Order: sequence, then C-alpha cells, then structure tokens
Amino acid sequence: MVNTCPPATLGQRFMSCKRVERFAPSPTGPLHLGHAYSALIAARTADRFLLRMEDIDTARCRPEWEAQIFDDLHWLGLHWEEPVLRQSQRLALYQDAVAQLTAAGLTYRCTCTRADIKAALSAPQEGAPMHGPDGLIYPGTCRNAGHVAQDAAIRLNMRTAIAYLGDVSGLHFTELDAGDNGEQGQQALSAEHLQNGIGDVVLARRDIGTSYHVAVVVDDAAQGITHVTRGRDLFPATPLHRLLQALLDLPTPAYRHHRLIRDEAGKRLAKRDDARAVSTLRAEGWTQGDVLRAIGL
Ligand code: GLU
Ligand code: ZN
Repeated sequence: MVNTCPPATLGQRFMSCKRVERFAPSPTGPLHLGHAYSALIAARTADRFLLRMEDIDTARCRPEWEAQIFDDLHWLGLHWEEPVLRQSQRLALYQDAVAQLTAAGLTYRCTCTRADIKAALSAPQEGAPMHGPDGLIYPGTCRNAGHVAQDAAIRLNMRTAIAYLGDVSGLHFTELDAGDNGEQGQQALSAEHLQNGIGDVVLARRDIGTSYHVAVVVDDAAQGITHVTRGRDLFPATPLHRLLQALLDLPTPAYRHHRLIRDEAGKRLAKRDDARAVSTLRAEGWTQGDVLRAIGL
C-alpha cells in the first residue's frame, strides 16, 4: 500500500490525508546537528509530528542521553504529540513480526560470531567483501545448517523472501529528496540488489530478539507515518524496509533522505562524537539561531 494523498492546495487540507512525520532518535549518544536538522525539517513540514525513542539496544542506551535529547529538542522549540512511543516497551510486537516471517519459512537461525563471518569472507573464492546496510554482507554460512539453538540470531533468507513475493520489481518507494547516488522519485526494488547488496540481514539479534529494521517498519506502520525524514546514510536500508513492509503487509510511507550535516572539516558528524553535539554547543553559548544557521535553516 503506497501513500497516495493528493498534494494539499492552498487553504485546503484533506482531513484523512494529513502528513504524519516522526523523529526517531536512539538514546545511545547526544543529539548532533544532523539529528536537529532531521527533527526540525520533519516538524516544519508535518501536520502531525510524533516522537519515538528507539531504545531497543539496552547495552548502549542510557537514560541520561534520553533526558538530554528531550531537553535539546525542547530547547530547539520543537513540540510533539504525547505519548512518545518507546521501542523498549514493544519488543513482543517485533518478535511477533519475526515469528510471522519464520512461520512463512523465510528465516533461519545463525550462530556465527563476527569473527566467523570475517573468516568466511576472507576465503579466496569470496572475492572482495561487499558492504550492505548493516556492514559486511553475510556469506550465508548457516543458511542451510538447520540450527535450532535459541541462543542464535535470526536472519532473513533473502532468496526465499524474494521467491515468496514473486516479482519484487513491482515494489517501490518514493524518494522525495535524494539517495547517495542522486536517486530521486520512484525507486523500484531489484532482486539482484536485494540478494547481492543487502543479503541475509539479521532480523532478531541474539541479545535483544529484534533489530532496527524490524522495529522501524512495525512502528512506522503503528504510528501511521506517511513521510519518513532521516539522514541519507539510511537510504541503503530503505529497499530492505520496503521488502519487510511487503512481507509483513504493512503500508509504505514516502521517504526523504536529507543531506548529511558536515562539520567545518567536511567530516561526517557521527565520527566527531561530542564535538557537534547540540548540548556541547549550548554549553559553549550557542543560541537556537546559531544552530539554525549552522545547519542552513
Ligand atoms: N534511530 C535511528 C537513528 O537515530 C533513526 C532511524 C530512522 O529514522 O529510521 O539513527
Ligand atoms: Zn551463521
């Protein structure tokens, strides 16, 4: 199901076609200028603006980061509807989604460690290892192993998933800004790219029983999100999200993958850690206006 709202004309809003946007930070570190940019442009274009705490990674999430994120968002002048959705309270829903895919025969259990995967990929016949949305593309070691261990990750069997859907080239998403190679407009999925450029991704990590990819598609649907605004670094994950929406029979929002906000040296902000954190800049005396200027708003 693709969102087909007509564009709202001057003075005319379609009550059933409101633009519902969300900001979905992970409280694993401070809010950076790039996050501020996402949140501000989403809130500015939304009819309804929602917030979601993506706090499934219990080893890395901290209540202090979360409190700081709320504080920074308020300081930026943002308002959102209550209640805030918290992913840590919704784990059973994500597990249900994975169980649905397992029941359809589209998953397998994987006991590989990171070192196992690296070793398999360094075998001479493998060629140069390829990277996908989660890093190295899984070589498929456990695909036919029939593992039953509970203490294992659950992976999507990409080939089986594609076969299950039939023709994936009929599946699209709309890119309202641009992908990392300038992709714009309707993006059709391709079986070749899903298999070789994404592969058998983890749907349920062994430690938390889910993954970002499953949680994000379940929650975008649950919150009725019509437009997803996020950084361009997530563009490569979107074909996977579209595929999961098709497999789980969930609606597809439109996507806006915005430019990444770089620091003066032109490096990705994420690599600079705290240097461009909104809280650091506030402590240095920056005003809201300084932040808006720095990110070109
Ligand atoms: N939680 C993700 C992040 O902070 C954002 C995911 C999304 O917007 O889809 O990078
Ligand atoms: Zn494995």
